[in-house]
Amino acid sequence: MMAMRRAKPDTGAAPSPAGPSCSEVVVLSGKGGTGKTTVAAALIARAAAHGVRVLATDCDVDAANLHLLLHPETVSSEPFIGGDVAAVDTSSCTGCDACSDHCAFGAMAPDHQVSALSCEGCGVCVIVCPAGAVQLVPKENGTVYRCETAYGPMVHARLHPGQGNSGKLVAEVRRSGRELARRRGATLIISDGPPGLGCPVLSAVTGADLALVVTEPSASAHHDLLRTLAVCAHFAVPAVVAVNKADIYPGGVRLIESDCRERGVEVIGRMPFSREVAESTAQARPLEGKGPAAEAMGELWRRVHGILCGPVPPGPRGAAH
Ligand code: SF4
Ligand code: SF4
Repeated sequence: MMAMRRAKPDTGAAPSPAGPSCSEVVVLSGKGGTGKTTVAAALIARAAAHGVRVLATDCDVDAANLHLLLHPETVSSEPFIGGDVAAVDTSSCTGCDACSDHCAFGAMAPDHQVSALSCEGCGVCVIVCPAGAVQLVPKENGTVYRCETAYGPMVHARLHPGQGNSGKLVAEVRRSGRELARRRGATLIISDGPPGLGCPVLSAVTGADLALVVTEPSASAHHDLLRTLAVCAHFAVPAVVAVNKADIYPGGVRLIESDCRERGVEVIGRMPFSREVAESTAQARPLEGKGPAAEAMGELWRRVHGILCGPVPPGPRGAAH
């Protein structure tokens, strides 16, 4: 594939505040456990080793784990307000029970106190309360962290237990990441995307320059790969594929390659099943070094950088790949 900088797809989203010289690749998988975070961390480490000004974002806010490999130090944090919660003014409440009778989520206790965990902020109780005793107030759903790592800046988030709106939180992580990238002069954002195909994935993929979908030769991963590619196509985000553990079932890899070819999607990486991956994960560090999986990751990095930014620059840290 020819090295080129792709134009932003027109998704109707606001232009990236990260600036025209910053590209964004989001690593997706559909099925969990295919090695998405391993690949994202390895690409971030490779980028830093080649002197690329990279910024990492972890958009898997429901189960963030990129920080376990990158060991960020928090520089600042801010609360994420993802919605509203009902609040009752007990001094105005007449005890008529209209709110609890109409609440579809069982969030109103018998004493007319609101369960913040159950309340969906729908506002029905505000409408039905004859005394005007209920109002909606902003609800803190999580925290967004801006950090430094050995590989460059990082933005990640944590959703509070039982809280929803993770799609909104992903959008906030991306917005914060783009703003920090602009301030720090980053030229590449590598994002560890959420698994599955729900709202967080849609939030993570829209407006990205490239989706790298990590799969493996199993029926469930193959199935989810095709659904993920359909989502990328729907949002006009160019997609490429990397097959992890490619050597354990060559027939499955051929099926994946065939389906990708049909869709005009290129398979740009094939990583072997290797002990070195488990060892680097157990040591809580990105996959680097010279083993077969690390070398395949180096080739994947060259392909990703080539698609987004052109040939890989020589590494100031003496990187081999
Ligand atoms: S805002 Fe909706 S969910 Fe929350 S207490 Fe009122 S009616 Fe129930
Ligand atoms: S509807 Fe209003 S007045 Fe009636 S119990 Fe609920 S909060 Fe109190």
